[in-house]
Parts: sequence; structure tokens; C-alpha cells
Amino acid sequence: VLARGDKYSDEHFDGMCTYCGETPDTKDHVPSKVLLNEPFPENLHKVDCCLKCNQDFSSDEVYFACLLECIINGSANIADLKREKIKRILSEKEHLRRKIEESIIITDGHKAFNVDVKAIENVLLKLARGHSVFEASRPRLEKPTYFLYKPLHLLTETEKDNFFSAPEVEIYPEVGSRLFNHLILHNNTSFSNWIHVQDNDYLYLITSQISQFSVRIIIYNYLAVEVIWAN
Ligand SMILES: [Zn+2]
Repeated sequence: VLARGDKYSDEHFDGMCTYCGETPDTKDHVPSKVLLNEPFPENLHKVDCCLKCNQDFSSDEVYFACLLECIINGSANIADLKREKIKRILSEKEHLRRKIEESIIITDGHKAFNVDVKAIENVLLKLARGHSVFEASRPRLEKPTYFLYKPLHLLTETEKDNFFSAPEVEIYPEVGSRLFNHLILHNNTSFSNWIHVQDNDYLYLITSQISQFSVRIIIYNYLAVEVIWAN
């Protein structure tokens, strides 16, 4: 079995930032390390990126990682949180902790978070674009045709069925891409290999069919994300 990340880990650029299409001058981790726990898995995935994107996404990513931890634990008090990294970040960034705390609203007696949708979508699209380039060697700069993100427990039955389905392989992805190699190595006729980046904290699945290309992600066993582009 190919050690993931090994074969393609040379620092060479394919000529395009994964997120904006400009000339790349650095590499970016997918997913961003703020979403993973230490010790990090070996051979973290990397894609080409320009310096501007590398820096511009950073504050949204930190916000997103902290927000998720607060939502999962129903609190923005550091003592109520579990992930060490997030506790550390929020102890250092009181303004961010307060921003999240002030976004808590009570509706019908339930705690809810009035989240920064723009920041969240920015991060989730970036993740999907990163996985797409890493697995299928193809940037997806255009707007997706479908974009869903929801806590797993709030998915409708239909959404859940679709999300956990394993679509059949209609055409094989580009020869030599990781996606192609997964299918060949595992002798698969359907897309069913969820990639566990870190235990059950971060998983994703790529499916490529004649009409559409989809990236599904599950973060902290809590948030389900699916981004689809027309092929
Ligand atoms: Zn860029």
C-alpha cells in the first residue's frame, strides 16, 4: 500500500494556487493544522497555495475551529472545552472567545450560536478545494453547484442516505491521481473509502462521477459537509 503523502511530497508547484488560481509560492496543509490535534498525523497533506491565500484564510480557520469546539460543548468558557489546542488559543485570544460567547443566543429555551456564516463557508469551501486538488489533481475554482453543511444529527433521512451512500464508479479518475490509485489498490467499484486524516476527528470522501464531483467531510464526528461541482 502506498504511504499517503510520500510519493508526491516533493516541493514542486503545478502552477496554480488551489484556492484562487494565482501563481503559487508556498504549500498549504489540508486540512489546516488548527483542525487537528497534536501529535499530528504523519505526512499531512499539502497543496500549492499563494502567500495571500495562505494568510487570508488563517483567522477564519481559527474562528471556525474554536467555534466548533464551543458549539460541541455548548459553551465558550474555557473550562468547559475539551480540546487542549482550542483552550490554549482562546486563552490567548480573549477577543475571539468573547466574540463566540456573544454570539450565543437562547431560542425556545435552547442555546444556539449566531455564527459568522461567511467565515464558515470560506473555510469549508477551502477544505473541499484542498481535498479535491490533493486527491484528484484538479483545482475547482468555480462556485460549487451544491453546498451543504449541517450537524450530523440534524441531517434529514434523505440527506443522511445521500451523504453516506457509496456511489458507483462510472468512469475512472485521472490515471496516477490518488483517487485513481485508491480505487485500483482496493479493487473498488464504488467510492466508499473514507480517508481518516485523524481518527474519527477528521474524515473525508471524494467521489467523481460523469456528471459531478463531490467532496464530503465529517469534522469532530459533528459537522457533515458536502460540496459538489459539476464535472
Ligand atoms: Zn491564492
